[in-house]
Amino acid sequence: MPEEKLLLIPGPSPVVPRILDALALPTVSHVSPEMVHDLKEACENLKKIVFCAAGEPFVIAGAGTLAMEMAVLNTAGRGDRVLVLSQGYFGDRLAQICRAFGLEHDVLECEWGRAVTPGELDRRLKDRNYNVVVCTHVDTATGACAPVAEYSQVLEKTGSLFVVDGVCATGGIPERMDAWGIDVVLTAAQKCLGTPPGLSILVLSELAMEKRRSLASVPAFYSDLLRWLPVMHDPTKYFSTPCVNEVRAFAEGTRLIMEEGLEERFERHDLYAEAIRAGLAALGFGFFTDPDFLASTLSVVRYPDGIDDRAFRAGLGANGVVVAGGLGPTAGGVFRMGHMGNLTSAQVRFAVDAVEKTLATMGRKVAPGTGRQAVDGILKAR
Ligand code: PMP
Repeated sequence: MPEEKLLLIPGPSPVVPRILDALALPTVSHVSPEMVHDLKEACENLKKIVFCAAGEPFVIAGAGTLAMEMAVLNTAGRGDRVLVLSQGYFGDRLAQICRAFGLEHDVLECEWGRAVTPGELDRRLKDRNYNVVVCTHVDTATGACAPVAEYSQVLEKTGSLFVVDGVCATGGIPERMDAWGIDVVLTAAQKCLGTPPGLSILVLSELAMEKRRSLASVPAFYSDLLRWLPVMHDPTKYFSTPCVNEVRAFAEGTRLIMEEGLEERFERHDLYAEAIRAGLAALGFGFFTDPDFLASTLSVVRYPDGIDDRAFRAGLGANGVVVAGGLGPTAGGVFRMGHMGNLTSAQVRFAVDAVEKTLATMGRKVAPGTGRQAVDGILKAR
């Protein structure tokens, strides 16, 4: 067995043994009592995770991109106008999906590293009406977190459906669907939820479901949520074979989240983000993301002068930690470190120690323990 490395890319996040054990249970029938029990429990927990009392949850084999496609196709039809708030790579993908299906749409963009502000959204909505507004909660390319609660306040008076891509946020950063008037949260299993990749996850409000029912059809077959709805209500019904093992692992992952407590989990994400950033800053690194928009789920980290991206990431990998390179225009100039899901404080310390060790092997003079001291300053202060 190869030596296990700490996976700190911005998704998938490390999967804890308890969830891996659930994944490794013998494959059962997709209509067996075990599967019915787990899918139902996963759906109930999912609604709690996004603070939605009366909506419809969906857990479907796929990934985040399929969930994006499903969210858009089931809320916007011919004659509707969509506004995409794009703060980077994944907002642009939402626009690509609209284009692929010929949906009328506008894109309100901002520079990488920040998010569209509520004021900018408000000004756009004064010029034009939109049936659906979609945004990325945290863009994984830029590390910027959008002010979703404030968007909701702007959208309250408009009657637009509000769709949030929570792939890099759900389960790590609050998404209070009912209180904020969010109509769709779409996400995936492999990031803040801490479960293995392989699932497209959505929760639709009653209003969003009404909208789907009002559409004569959806230009897709597998992505039509009305085909999945009977299965989610009664998993003994068949539409397309669910990925039994992933669903059972996901159910276990949601149990773990319930045990931790949602507010505690959100706070833990804030704390670890602060600790990791303090450690990296003490070691001479900077951050790409505008400080007003920093997400607690990942950091996009600028190198000190003279540190080569590839050499650094290879060295860090040799020291036991895997991080990702930059996406798009940031490639080569930054690395991206995920700190989401079921991370522990010991892993936070290990990661910063490994960064320090890597700098030392690259010839940087750093007083031993510099990173650890900064991390402990944050972790112990709480
Ligand atoms: N949206 C966001 C914000 C993401 O970070 C990602 C994946 N990094 C996606 C969508 C797409 O998800 P997937 O790779 O699972 O298709």
